[in-house]
Amino acid sequence: MDTFEEKVQAMKNMTPDEVQAVVERLKSMCICQGCPSYNRCAKEGNEMLFCASGKSFMCISDEKSCICPTCPVPKEMGLKYTFFCTRGAEKAQRYEHTVWGTKMV
Ligand code: SF4
Ligand code: SF4
Repeated sequence: MDTFEEKVQAMKNMTPDEVQAVVERLKSMCICQGCPSYNRCAKEGNEMLFCASGKSFMCISDEKSCICPTCPVPKEMGLKYTFFCTRGAEKAQRYEHTVWGTKMV
């Protein structure tokens, strides 16, 4: 089991309030708003933490670049992927790569 799987497993044993507290803390660490791909639509919708919540809701489609690797969240959560706003959450991208064994963009 890698770090991400351990974190997900640990969260399954938390109360809803505890999970919420973790999500809020991770949100406060998210640096998406400084990313070239992040746009006004996403800002107005207060979108962030795509690595957990999944793709942007009809705001971000243009992949300019992704600054996730410089964010502290991937290290803490053991994330392997990037471009979560356009390609889906870490969990979804892991699943796709497992099923298809290749990059789905
Ligand atoms: S890894 Fe990316 S999407 Fe996740 S919190 Fe950091 S900047 Fe936001
Ligand atoms: S997930 Fe990556 S590409 Fe998307 S806005 Fe956040 S840092 Fe930028």
